[in-house]
Amino acid sequence: MSKNTLIRALSRDGYVDVIAADSTAMVEEARRIHSTRPTATAALGRLLTAASMMGSDLKSDDASVTLRVKGSGEIGTILCTADRTASARGTVANPLCDPPRKPSGKLDVGAAVGNDGTLEVIRDLGFGEPYAGRVPLVSGEIAEDLTSYFFRSEQTPTVLGLGVLTESERVLAAGGYLIRLLPGAPDRVIDELERCAPLFVPVTELLSGGAGPEEIVKLLLPGFDMEILPDSKREVAYRCRCSRERVARALISMGQKELFRFAEECREEPAEIKCEFCTKKYVFTSGDLLALARAARSEDGSGEEG
Ligand SMILES: [Zn+2]
Repeated sequence: MSKNTLIRALSRDGYVDVIAADSTAMVEEARRIHSTRPTATAALGRLLTAASMMGSDLKSDDASVTLRVKGSGEIGTILCTADRTASARGTVANPLCDPPRKPSGKLDVGAAVGNDGTLEVIRDLGFGEPYAGRVPLVSGEIAEDLTSYFFRSEQTPTVLGLGVLTESERVLAAGGYLIRLLPGAPDRVIDELERCAPLFVPVTELLSGGAGPEEIVKLLLPGFDMEILPDSKREVAYRCRCSRERVARALISMGQKELFRFAEECREEPAEIKCEFCTKKYVFTSGDLLALARAARSEDGSGEEG
């Protein structure tokens, strides 16, 4: 059974839309790259999985969705971004954050993130100005915060489940489901959805029980005639889009003056610039930086993310 699949399903009446993902492999890769401790793994993994599901919904190849959680807790800012292929990448300020577990034995993501802060969602549709929405954090548990965003900022009632299960350090299971009630849904659809509510169990429970995304849709919504959209299947992967060219463009955006200064600093030892998403290193010699400084003009390049 593959541990990196996302699918989307729509009820035949067209009112209920579901995305379900097994992101185990992606979250394990994120853990490996950032050497996160379990609570940080869970926080980053939940946000990555949400970004991947939201990304899969985008229409253009150039589009992206970025989620930024900035709470008052020790973990600091968590940032994830994804595109329509459902591949995602992310960073966490304090990968070692691992507060004591809850009395139930569950990882305390809410304590790590803190409930005082903001969740920001930036949708870049690939043209025009990106659209950004921001809501206060509800609990810092990520799923509740995003549910609040969907309701307050996009007026879409949703049920969102996100989960990461770790054993010692490794990721045993990770995934998510996003159930959306589409506009115009009649009362009978809302009632039926409410009847399904007791089935909305933690996604890691479903995954650990051997369910894949297709089964998850059936298990969550038995009362609905759900059709898996044929072209919706995606491979959920941790994929960084950094390249030497992108790093060079980011450097150019520093401006000519800063670059000349930086080139001077790097005369003895070349600059080593590390991608914050995948930790890949790019080396720029003083000569490289001088060439970029010459390329930098007053119309600075746009500040590209990795
Ligand atoms: Zn990278």
